Amino acid sequence: MAYVVTDDCLQCGYCISRCPEGAIIADAIIPFERWELQPVHIDPDKCTDCGVCVSEEYWCPTGAIVAA
Ligand code: SF4
Ligand code: SF4
Repeated sequence: MAYVVTDDCLQCGYCISRCPEGAIIADAIIPFERWELQPVHIDPDKCTDCGVCVSEEYWCPTGAIVAA
């Protein structure tokens, strides 16, 4: 199983530090007025399919990470 970031992502960057494997990667930091949006993707070579990023405890605000 693989996990992917869908278009529901708000680019909040919350998930980056929550992945225990460091598999959620910021593509860029884009200053936008006072906000810094962080587009992210999941590196399939680092992801161990642990499921943390889709658990209720994890709390992605939009549930943007899904099993592919
Ligand atoms: S926590 Fe969810 S909405 Fe925020 S950057 Fe990660 S995938 Fe996108
Ligand atoms: S399944 Fe686990 S290792 Fe893979 S991206 Fe989600 S939290 Fe990280």
